Amino acid sequence: MSPFYHIPYYPAFDKMTPENAAPAFTQLLAEAQAAIDALEKHNTLSWSGLIRPLYDACHPLYDAWGILCHMLSVMNSESWRRVQENVQPEIVAFSLRVGQSRTFYQGFCALRERDKAESFLTAVQRRILTKTIQGAEQAGVGLPPEKQARFNAIQMELAKLSTGFRNHVLDATKAYSITLKTPEEADGLPPALLAVAAQAVNDAGEATATAANGPWRITLDTAVYLPFMMHSRNRTAREQLYRAYATRASSGLSDNTQVIEQCLALRRELAELLGFQTFADLSLSTKTAKAVAVVDSLITQLANASYGAGQREASDLLTFARQHGFTEDTLQPWDITFWAERQRELLFDYSDEELSRYFLFPHVLEGLFSFAERLFDIKITPADKEVPVWHPDVRFFRVADKDGTPLACFYLDPYSRPETKNSGAWMNDFRTRDRRPDGSLQLPMAVLVCNQSVPVGNALPVMRFQEVNTLFHEFGHALQHMLTTVEEPDASGVNGIEWDAIEIASQFMENWCYDRATLKGLSRHAETGSELPDALFDKLVAAKNYRAATAMLRQVFFAATDMDLYARYPRPEWPDADTVKRTNANKYSPTPLLPEDRFLCSFGHIFGGGYAAGYYSYKWSEVLSADAFAAFEEAGLGDDVAVRATGRRFRNTLLALGGGEDPMDVYRRFRGRAPSIDALLRHSGLSATA
Ligand SMILES: [Zn+2]
Repeated sequence: MSPFYHIPYYPAFDKMTPENAAPAFTQLLAEAQAAIDALEKHNTLSWSGLIRPLYDACHPLYDAWGILCHMLSVMNSESWRRVQENVQPEIVAFSLRVGQSRTFYQGFCALRERDKAESFLTAVQRRILTKTIQGAEQAGVGLPPEKQARFNAIQMELAKLSTGFRNHVLDATKAYSITLKTPEEADGLPPALLAVAAQAVNDAGEATATAANGPWRITLDTAVYLPFMMHSRNRTAREQLYRAYATRASSGLSDNTQVIEQCLALRRELAELLGFQTFADLSLSTKTAKAVAVVDSLITQLANASYGAGQREASDLLTFARQHGFTEDTLQPWDITFWAERQRELLFDYSDEELSRYFLFPHVLEGLFSFAERLFDIKITPADKEVPVWHPDVRFFRVADKDGTPLACFYLDPYSRPETKNSGAWMNDFRTRDRRPDGSLQLPMAVLVCNQSVPVGNALPVMRFQEVNTLFHEFGHALQHMLTTVEEPDASGVNGIEWDAIEIASQFMENWCYDRATLKGLSRHAETGSELPDALFDKLVAAKNYRAATAMLRQVFFAATDMDLYARYPRPEWPDADTVKRTNANKYSPTPLLPEDRFLCSFGHIFGGGYAAGYYSYKWSEVLSADAFAAFEEAGLGDDVAVRATGRRFRNTLLALGGGEDPMDVYRRFRGRAPSIDALLRHSGLSATA
């Protein structure tokens, strides 16, 4: 039996292969089709007579599909891609068939009417039903046949384009590297990077390389690219690499230029078919921000608070560089990261490299867990070897309530594997909390995927501070998924939460990386074993807001470009998507973009992922998460009793209620009032009162 066929609670990851995936999908599809057909004929107007059986009919197929997509994202290969590409059209067709069933739609509406009269649904069920009806409407259930056929063709095409977009970026990232041959060419690179870069040469079997004598292979993988741009004194190589990075997936076989225009055009058409003016209107109709004007106003407020400071940061950096040997009149894009790191080192007197010696991965993990245990009254226990995993580096943990009641479990796939793993970091839900009709309870299961630096040889697994931050972020998502108390699978954990509210818990967790007790608790020097000294912590906090306006404006630039592309493009003055990007860069970016910049071609969030007309969600959530953290500050971060009480309230509201209630109402329950933008500006040092 294929390990993809009716996947057990603990999937047999070690037995899954592209070869045994395909036949399972044929069977699962047939079974799901048959179950759906039967349910259309025989259903009753109740939760257990319609909604639950519908979930159960689709679940084994969607479950297998989710796991297949997971395997592709962490173990990418030609054969996994082929299976995914073959199965995808059938999944899309199946979900459209369910979503567009008039029988089900009429059933949902009738159920809603019955509930209005008799009020037998729970509040959570009512919310799920409302969203299901909206979902059916947005899946084209009300369209006449010829429009529905077009709608389906568009959905199919969009799914293909989005997968293609991601694969292009991965291919382009893999295809490029430069090899440095002499120590002069590798000048400035920290030892850890030299080791990774020499290892890459050895792995490719091109030569016998050593960290000390090279050669060193530098790639566009973020874990290599970023430290290289920060530290390399080889300006020519920095320029080469920057240009390659900024033009990824914009030419040759992995060119995304047309994919972008096709995505935009198809999404415009999709929105029109459903009666929306723009795709942004369609996208926002299911988000908490609700309207384009609300997003525009957020963007304007953030831009206004940061623009002046951003320009000052740019001119300060140029002055600094010129005082330290830079002889030209303007800093090029490939100079900025390098000089910013030099300025940061001098201003705050520590290096990213030096700081990373305090963050040993196993100890960071232990610290993160005991922090979560203190704040949320839970217990986390390693349980490696109890379950199969997809790669030897993957860890497994169990989560219990303070009294020992099991709550959840999760996998952690920590290290970068540029050859086979998508870049970035993410959390997936494999299982969600579910009280089944027979009364049994399924516990949530999460997976955290990171791309942190790989220890080479006998080197200790140290983490860059940014990687610690990312781990906290993904763990925040996982906590929200695992500590849910909702028992309807469509609204438990991270399910059913409006897209633009999904980053609140994750970004909230990042704030704790700047809390003294928390950070010291997870630090231990790789060589001396000592914890992070107070003086270094103070510098880290001071450095946090270093170039904060520049960082803010970068996110504003992305969010504004996304909104323009999906709400206002095309226009006569905007012949192509790249012009929209350039217009926004001129408006918001304190330093000009390279004329050849083709950043949109690797902007996977809005073309290869779910952030189309939703990129603003990051800032929107940041406003809320900063304001949530401010509740702890107001309670007094040094006051253990107050912090625990506030943490408990956070668990009982934001982490527990998930998609079972409007996120804005949940937020008000935690905070006692609507969110305010002030805390974010204060934390970033951008408000008058900072
Ligand atoms: Zn996130």
